[in-house]
Amino acid sequence: MADKEEDIGYAVIGAGIVGICTALSLQERGKKVTLLDALQPSEATSFGNAGVISSWACIPQSMPGIWKNVPKWLMDPEGPVALRWGYLPKFLPWMVKFLAAGKADRIPAIADAMLQLHRPTVDLYRRHLEGTGHEALVKDSYYVFAYRNAADANLDNFEWRLRTERGVPAERIDRGALSDIEPEISDAYQAAILVKDQGRALDPGGIGKALAEKFQRAGGTFKQCRVESLHPREDKRVSIKTDAGTFDAEKVVLAAGAWSANLLKPLGINLPLESERGYHIVFTDPGVTVNNSVMMTDAKCVISSMNMGVRCAGTAEFAGLDHPPNYKRAHVLAGPAKRLLPNLNTEAREVWMGHRPSFPDSLPAIGNIPGIPGIVTAFGHGHLGLTAAPMTGQLASQIAIGETPNIDVSPYSVDRF
Ligand SMILES: Cc1cc2nc3c(=O)[nH]c(=O)nc-3n(C[C@H](O)[C@H](O)[C@H](O)COP(=O)(O)OP(=O)(O)OC[C@H]3O[C@@H](n4cnc5c(N)ncnc54)[C@H](O)[C@@H]3O)c2cc1C
Repeated sequence: MADKEEDIGYAVIGAGIVGICTALSLQERGKKVTLLDALQPSEATSFGNAGVISSWACIPQSMPGIWKNVPKWLMDPEGPVALRWGYLPKFLPWMVKFLAAGKADRIPAIADAMLQLHRPTVDLYRRHLEGTGHEALVKDSYYVFAYRNAADANLDNFEWRLRTERGVPAERIDRGALSDIEPEISDAYQAAILVKDQGRALDPGGIGKALAEKFQRAGGTFKQCRVESLHPREDKRVSIKTDAGTFDAEKVVLAAGAWSANLLKPLGINLPLESERGYHIVFTDPGVTVNNSVMMTDAKCVISSMNMGVRCAGTAEFAGLDHPPNYKRAHVLAGPAKRLLPNLNTEAREVWMGHRPSFPDSLPAIGNIPGIPGIVTAFGHGHLGLTAAPMTGQLASQIAIGETPNIDVSPYSVDRF
């Protein structure tokens, strides 16, 4: 039966930004590559994110003392965290691991592992986009952390020290300097901390689509099909059963975002991957422009001007992969957006929901799976998958072809769970 299956070379499952970057990196290494997705490229989580290409990101989601805020956030209908109560039994074990990951002694190693994945991102995107005609989709940017209370903009606190100790170019500015950089931001925001030397996406979905087109123009194959199951074989190849037939792959890179763990479960691999559902609202006739990515530190959402309007994205909602979106969570973001930008026209809007693929320690799974030589993991990037995708693609492709990566990939091992 096996010799009837079509040989598709190196298979990348998932045409989100991580899978697309991985396919490009495998192609650069001279491999025959097939990208498989149930949707068209870059239509799931990678379509609607906040567009921060955060080369200096090194702060995990779970930090010491975070548990004190959780009840307050959950009770506030405008709060940054939401839980479907019926989902509580499934969510609790993940939450326990999440809180454990936030212990102070675990944070420095996580921060280092995050940073090495993110540092080269802007350069790598520019290299991937070269020649596509879409080079302008990545813009140089500051990351502006806007604070209402000037005293909270404090470079000496634990979070900012973690950054500055790692060389993050952070600068505290007062109200006057903030107005110079972002004239539309309300006077209620009294100070900011700038992280310099970053990038931002003017259309995150558009970047993925431009790169998927580049991959296909260079001879890569895209197959739109749903992967139903993976069957590692004794010859170390993998049969991929899909709704469009069964394919024979030399290697599989699994980059199916928040859905990845479901494909590994039947192989006896159980990973604590959770969907952190996030929402965006785009004001399509905003009447104002924001010059950088702006983090509202009070509402925990990010605002950015993009090609389609001003986008405000945020929220971590725990309700699983299959529950329908609650778009009230997206419309709620209009409140903070208008507080930040008083002249923002919030009438014309589009809303969206996506699934952040999140492990409790904010690190992805990139690497081999012990005992299953045919499958390489490349998923679980949580809040930072747009940022981490190019480096992940490089590492996953190196691992898939048997090269030793030039950085230490042990922090991303599936063995850590
Ligand atoms: C509101 C919000 C804001 C965000 N902001 C930022 C930000 O500013 N900066 C940043 O770096 N990151 C951000 N992120 C995170 C980032 O968007 C994600 O980490 C990233 O998009 C994940 O990419 P991915 O390729 O792993 O997954 P996805 O984009 O979800 O792609 C996975 C693909 O796998 C496919 N798939 C799944 N199962 C199967 C199957 N069985 N068969 C075939 N195909 C399958 C899906 O159809 C999908 O296309 C944000 C996320 C959200 C929700």
